[in-house]
Amino acid sequence: MYIDDQFPIQYIDPVYRPPSEARSLILPVTNGCSWNKCSFCEMYTDTQKKFAARPEELVLREIQQAGEQLAGVRRVFLADGDAMVLSLRRLTTILEAINIAFPALNRVSAYCLPRNIAKKSVEELKILKNLGLSMLYVGIESGDDEVLKRINKGETAQSTYDAVNKIHLAGIKTSVMVLNGLGGKLLSKQHALNSAKLINRLQPDYLSTLVLTFHKGPERFSMAFGEGFQSLNTNELFNEMYTFVSALQLENTIYRSDHISNRLALKGVLGKDKEKLLEQIQSAMKHRQGFSDIRLQQI
Ligand code: SF4
Repeated sequence: MYIDDQFPIQYIDPVYRPPSEARSLILPVTNGCSWNKCSFCEMYTDTQKKFAARPEELVLREIQQAGEQLAGVRRVFLADGDAMVLSLRRLTTILEAINIAFPALNRVSAYCLPRNIAKKSVEELKILKNLGLSMLYVGIESGDDEVLKRINKGETAQSTYDAVNKIHLAGIKTSVMVLNGLGGKLLSKQHALNSAKLINRLQPDYLSTLVLTFHKGPERFSMAFGEGFQSLNTNELFNEMYTFVSALQLENTIYRSDHISNRLALKGVLGKDKEKLLEQIQSAMKHRQGFSDIRLQQI
């Protein structure tokens, strides 16, 4: 546990937040993730990160004390991986306290699992939206049901669609994440194409792609995936990205591929920047292969 006598909030390390929340006050309302079974995810595997909702009185006290010390806070990110698992009553109480503590507040955000949204109605989500919850980050990982099953995501393309659609109906913005390389060599093409298909249905506000990475080794992931998992090399990752971006048909989605795991930083607005992004991926592939014979997969 990280305790700073001078800081009003206690953290149990490690604490994660999206890159775009770098300027936000990170407020843990839960510890860990209630699902915690995705075979690629190492975020909350340490014993101290076992899932639990943090005591309500503690969270409310921290909000009040943070308000006294950091009244200029404009953004709050509700950590850990699973804030939306909390009941409507508890989320409402927390958001009301945040609004009182931080008069300059203009945005509250959180990670969210589709399964948590399934338990809330659009009307309930609208109540949270009206209290300042304006962005939810959804790790969809893949739009391919076979990949989702093999990584033990506990979701399908349809359950993810239903959740994100509900969030949009409530007027809350979404930032969705897809994991490049998640299907290995075996499922690379269907992972890319079905992920693009799902993203096209969702039309999210933000989209980011990260690369499958194992800090603690690939054994747990490979065992769950079953026979045939082979990691993609850098060119194969680029090739998968090319297939994915080629198949995207988005109207106005801000796209980022600038996480530390990415081999190639990409930024743009889709669809208007689609051709530019494809050229950048193609150029990266050519560069790696010394302008040798490149054959991009054709859709
Ligand atoms: S739902 Fe998210 S935080 Fe939880 S185990 Fe899966 S990837 Fe990790």
